[in-house]
Amino acid sequence: MSSNLLDRRTFLTRAALLGGTAAGLSLLVGCGKGGALVCTDTASLKPDELATRTSSNYVDASTDPTKLCSSCTLYLPAAEGACGGCSVVKGPINPNGYCISWVKKA
Ligand code: SF4
Repeated sequence: MSSNLLDRRTFLTRAALLGGTAAGLSLLVGCGKGGALVCTDTASLKPDELATRTSSNYVDASTDPTKLCSSCTLYLPAAEGACGGCSVVKGPINPNGYCISWVKKA
């Protein structure tokens, strides 16, 4: 075998390992420990969007089971098991989250 072939195999093996590691890490970010959905990544938000999120006192897990983002009229649902969105609070929204702008879904 030529050294070029060995180099190519080494490259492909390492690329596959890196890809698997990245996929695993992205699942951990989205799911958190124990499989609980985590929707706290605000890295892509603009300062004013982050300020609204903060001033709304958004939390990723509501302390009141009768007031969840999923039961709020402003919630924008996503696929099952994924973070949704909100008409007011930008960024990923946990269906089990809550903020002070909560309005019961009709
Ligand atoms: S307004 Fe608040 S409670 Fe309603 S979906 Fe948005 S973040 Fe959740």
